[in-house]
Amino acid sequence: MRINCLSCGHKVELGDAYDDFEGPVKCLCGAMLEIRTEEGMLKGIKIAEPPARPAPRPKRMEGAVPG
Ligand SMILES: [Zn+2]
Repeated sequence: MRINCLSCGHKVELGDAYDDFEGPVKCLCGAMLEIRTEEGMLKGIKIAEPPARPAPRPKRMEGAVPG
């Protein structure tokens, strides 16, 4: 079966293993799609939330004043 990427429109080819599947699928464009299939039918698709990454904190340069 194929699914259309919600982000770029690319047709993502899925094998038989995805006929009954629920979980993330990654598109070529890097988008994570969360899909749900039953008996080869697409039941649901949405863009998966990207995994939470620790945000880089800006470093303060206190006490490092040049001069
Ligand atoms: Zn895509």
